[in-house]
Amino acid sequence: MKPKKIQYSITEKITLKIKAMASEINREMAIENKMDDYEKIDLYNPKKIQALSSHYYKILELVGEDPTREGLEKTPERVAKAMQYLTHGYDIDPSEILRSAMFKEDYKQMVIVKDIEIYSMCEHHMLPFIGKAHVAYIPNGQIVGLSKIPRVVDAFARRLQVQERLTTQIKECIQEALNPLGVAVVIEAHHLCMMMRGIQKQNSVTTTSDFTGAFLTEKTRAEFIHLLGSRLH
Ligand SMILES: [Zn+2]
Repeated sequence: MKPKKIQYSITEKITLKIKAMASEINREMAIENKMDDYEKIDLYNPKKIQALSSHYYKILELVGEDPTREGLEKTPERVAKAMQYLTHGYDIDPSEILRSAMFKEDYKQMVIVKDIEIYSMCEHHMLPFIGKAHVAYIPNGQIVGLSKIPRVVDAFARRLQVQERLTTQIKECIQEALNPLGVAVVIEAHHLCMMMRGIQKQNSVTTTSDFTGAFLTEKTRAEFIHLLGSRLH
């Protein structure tokens, strides 16, 4: 007699797959981030850094500081480099990231990448908004390397943004490059422009979402929300 195979329900299968995907993404992200750090240092554009630095020097004066004091001596250059890093998404083609790692595959179930960290900057105040993105798609003959989805999120996040547009851009990019049966994007974020200034609401979370294809039907969207589980606020 053959040994009995363990029977998993569809939900259990999906959960197992997601867990495997998550650890794979963490591993790849760890490697890639390290390499990114090195790359970014090389990619600083000296002319841009110099121009930005002189503006930040002026800003320090305008806010009443003395840019020549010891602690601030290198601040304009540091801020210039930080700003170039925080906006490096302008130099990346997110569609190309996806196109570089597409594979033929018959898998037609939902693929979800949860809890992708978002570090972006609001275009109205140039203050950070930070949070998480959850992205799902249903393949239509092609899948994409899993680490590419967080990279697409990052490519759009590392620009001056509004959360609404960020959500839609991620959705459209995946829909156009991969042509899946549907895409879902949910972003939850804290906006420092609301926390540090203005109405000073420290605990409010802004949630945005956008869907295409199969996710426009209530059943698929409900399955997606269910699989996100307790992660949503
Ligand atoms: Zn703002």
